[in-house]
Amino acid sequence: MITLIERAATFPKRTAIKSGGHSYTYQTLLDKSKDVALSILDGQIDLNGARIAFLVPASFTYAATQWGIWRAGGIAVPLCEKHPLPSIEYILNDTQASTLILSEEFESLLAPLFDKTEIRFIRFSEITAKKGELPDVQTDRSALILYTSGTTGAPKGVVTTHDNIEAQITTLVESWQWNKDDHVLNVLPLHHVHGIINMLSCALWSGACCEFLPKFNPEEVYQAFTKGEVNVFMAVPTIYFKLIAYYNELAPAVQESISKHLKKFRLMVSGSAALPISVLEQWKEISGHTLLERYGMTEMGMAISNPYNGTRKPGHIGQPLPGVEILLGDSDHQPVQNGEPGEILIKGPNVFKEYWNKPKATEEAFTPDGWFKSGDIAIWDGDSIKILGRNSVDIIKSGGYKISALEIEEVLRKHSNIKDCGVVGIPDLEWGEIIGAAIVSETDDFDVEELKSWLNDKLPGYKTPRKYLIMSDLPRNVMGKVTKNNIKELFTNNQQ
Ligand code: ATP
Ligand code: MG
Repeated sequence: MITLIERAATFPKRTAIKSGGHSYTYQTLLDKSKDVALSILDGQIDLNGARIAFLVPASFTYAATQWGIWRAGGIAVPLCEKHPLPSIEYILNDTQASTLILSEEFESLLAPLFDKTEIRFIRFSEITAKKGELPDVQTDRSALILYTSGTTGAPKGVVTTHDNIEAQITTLVESWQWNKDDHVLNVLPLHHVHGIINMLSCALWSGACCEFLPKFNPEEVYQAFTKGEVNVFMAVPTIYFKLIAYYNELAPAVQESISKHLKKFRLMVSGSAALPISVLEQWKEISGHTLLERYGMTEMGMAISNPYNGTRKPGHIGQPLPGVEILLGDSDHQPVQNGEPGEILIKGPNVFKEYWNKPKATEEAFTPDGWFKSGDIAIWDGDSIKILGRNSVDIIKSGGYKISALEIEEVLRKHSNIKDCGVVGIPDLEWGEIIGAAIVSETDDFDVEELKSWLNDKLPGYKTPRKYLIMSDLPRNVMGKVTKNNIKELFTNNQQ
């Protein structure tokens, strides 16, 4: 039996979810998810791992659908409405989904598929109360296929079992002290671990309340904060960036009221991409909180986190979470010396089972002795881990040096005319790669020469960008992550 769902029966009257102006108890969630399960089963005894895709808003509907699929013995495949139709079709074909559950608001988006596929479509609004038996689902079964963010290439379907998911939840519940009195505000999409595991599942495991805003909007986020119920918030750096910009435009009295509420929060987390120190500092001014930065991936949920109690070092991701083994490895996957850069290698019950339909990619993702290779490079400074970036796009190999793009970005962000930036390596015959910086500035005639001389005493020559591109915004994916391959392409097509 799936523990997450079993636990709900022990606090049936508590509020599980607030969405669309309604509150739903854990009992309502159990009842509706049973109706969903029986609708999908439609007379069968067990779905036995059939893939069930769903496109519904981040709300009560989402949790009821996901739990319903699990209770019927299926593998849940969440879709995202922001993905173009061909990406949705790709996931449906890749997973060979037998059924797609949809909400009315996405009917027209999916309409072109209705006659094109063999898939059975179930409208959530047409699911009615049902009576019947549900299968006993063993927890070593596959539960979920989440696609990676596609930051560095085509998204890969990551399969996790119920046991993997339970390990991902319990390590966070313990470390971040989730409890039944928590009330988290969710503004993130739910087809990635940040939303589905760290927020929704940890809240529901704990008997806490998860409140949904239909989509991110700074005004509504601040309105929700100042109602006084929310005490936990998690987001990606871009969202904190936007909240800060909005806050700075508000009248002092409004700012004061927001800050008063934020100071009472229990926990504020950032992750999914490196948190710029400037954002950490500005958010501390506003909220009184040093954001708790953590590190994880679709393939393993969270693995490394700054402490709940104790020092959170700016620019660092902290220490391994309970139950997660971490090794910083060299190119032969042997431990590097303390203070030397190495690839983050991970073992633990949280680590995924396989890439869907990709046995070769699964095999290549692990070392011969079973460590998962993250592709992220980091250093251990004696008490905490610092990310240097992804080996494939953030570690620039130039003239024999390995240079962290993230370190250069931290320096550039200190320039008063730079709002944001993305640093990449551009292929070069002589140097292997040369450094290119894409700069976002509010100044119309950004002065690159002035920037170069400003950098003179801040970066050594070999770390100073040679090429610059001034942009109105950086290219990003649905999770707000900068897609550096797109910046590289822009440099290649548009050299200055
Ligand atoms: P794809 O694998 O398709 O290229 P992706 O790696 O962005 O996409 P996710 O699994 O959503 O897909 O993201 C995991 C990655 O996010 C990590 O490998 C790491 O590079 C990055 N990441 C997560 N948390 C942090 C953090 N706190 N600091 C820096 N990078 C982070
Ligand atoms: Mg990845």
